Amino acid sequence: MPVRFTSLRFKRQTEDPFADGIPEPKPVPTPEELAAKRRRAIRGRLWFYGTTFGILYLALWYQPYEVDWIPRKIPNPNPLIDPDSKHLFERGTRVLIVTAHPDDSEFFIGGLLSKLSKTKAELHQVICTDGDKGYYYFFTDAAKNRVVRKREALDAARAWHAKTIEFLGYPDRFLHPNPDVVYQIQAVIERYRPEYILTFDGELPSRVSHQDHRRAGDAARIAAQKAHVPCWLMLFQTCAPNYVVDISDLWEDQKKLLQIHKSQFFGSHLAGVENMIEASAEKDGARIGVELGEGLRCEKISP
Ligand SMILES: [Zn+2]
Repeated sequence: MPVRFTSLRFKRQTEDPFADGIPEPKPVPTPEELAAKRRRAIRGRLWFYGTTFGILYLALWYQPYEVDWIPRKIPNPNPLIDPDSKHLFERGTRVLIVTAHPDDSEFFIGGLLSKLSKTKAELHQVICTDGDKGYYYFFTDAAKNRVVRKREALDAARAWHAKTIEFLGYPDRFLHPNPDVVYQIQAVIERYRPEYILTFDGELPSRVSHQDHRRAGDAARIAAQKAHVPCWLMLFQTCAPNYVVDISDLWEDQKKLLQIHKSQFFGSHLAGVENMIEASAEKDGARIGVELGEGLRCEKISP
């Protein structure tokens, strides 16, 4: 079979690409222009990372919680002790409660306060801050928060029959155990000579807790040591409780106290907070074999 060769026909170039002349070449950036472009890119990156870091830093600075990334060393063993509880629940026993915010006592020791109210203890309270940040929303009305939260604290204190209540009025979120705060708490201790001081555990706090809580606990401890008034320090929001109060039959009282702080606990948030407190009370109660309890770390201050 004969081999057929197909003729390869090359298309003839009919148009001259340079008919209109040689096109202008794209301008090549000069070394100076390239350097300026690099500088602009670096500035853009710096602005982006700087702004992101700044926003994160501000958010961390503004949020009030402290986290112990390394857990505190809890005493081991940490046996249960009895802070002379027979006397604690006797009529007329002098008790001072030192807290950071207007709702702290009802939140953390509402059951114990209800119990002390029923046994007719002589109850005094110091609240270190004015609660002006409220819920920590941005742009809240600080002046309104102060008024509303003070009124709620007074209503709650009336419900558990506080004899006196002192508002130190420091700004919420910025509490420090400075000499002024310590001196003011010490003055209250020396005036009422409490046999028990209930406050936050600043030494062995729960792993995540509000910094004002820790600082209020620190200030109260220093004040108690300076005041030369022998007493039991009973510390709540602690990671190392060594005493548990049975509040099994006081849960409804605790809830009523919590509900007084309407600006803080309402709607589904109130239900969530109640569940959280109940879960914690179940855990503490299990330590002494009761349904609900409030755990505290107790130590005797003997100046
Ligand atoms: Zn608080």
